[in-house]
Amino acid sequence: MSERLSLLHREVDEAAASLERLHAERLQCRRGCHDCCVDGITVFEVEAERIRRNHRSLLDEGVPHPEGACAFLDEQGACRIYADRPYVCRTQGLPLRWFDEQGGETVELRDICPLNEQGPPIEELPAEACWTLGPFESRLAELEQERDRAMKRVPLRELFARSR
Ligand code: SF4
Repeated sequence: MSERLSLLHREVDEAAASLERLHAERLQCRRGCHDCCVDGITVFEVEAERIRRNHRSLLDEGVPHPEGACAFLDEQGACRIYADRPYVCRTQGLPLRWFDEQGGETVELRDICPLNEQGPPIEELPAEACWTLGPFESRLAELEQERDRAMKRVPLRELFARSR
C-alpha cells in the first residue's frame, strides 16, 4: 500500500512538474508562499499513515502552526513534511479544471490562485494545459477503499499530539 501511494505521488509530481514548466512565466509559487496552505485540509488514512510513519517526533513533540493556516507550516511559511505532503498539496498553484453538475448539465469549471492569474485567461487554455481534478482522486480513493472501506478522512491538524 505504501509503495503504491509513493508511486501515485511520484506520478502526480511528474505530471505537475510538466505543467509547472509549461506555465513557468505565470506561476509565482515559491518557498515561503503558503496562500494555498489553508487550515482544515483533510486526508485519507492512507496518506495520514505515511505522515505518521515518517514524522513521528514532529507529531509527538512539535507545535502545530496556529489555527488559520495548515498545522504543518513552519515559522518561515515552509512545509515541514514537504516530501510526504498529501496529494492535494502537490498541484497547488496550477490552473485547475473539473466538472460539475449544474441545472441538469455537466459543466466544466476552472480556477487558479489569484497570484498566478497574470497571463492568457485560463478559460482559453487547452484542457491538457490544466490539471484535471478527478483521475488521481479516484485512484487515491481506491487505495483507501482497499485499506478500509470506511473511507475515513483525517484533519491534518489532528495528527499532532498537541491538537488532540
Ligand atoms: S501539508 Fe504542507 S504543503 Fe500541504 S497544506 Fe500543509 S504546509 Fe502546505
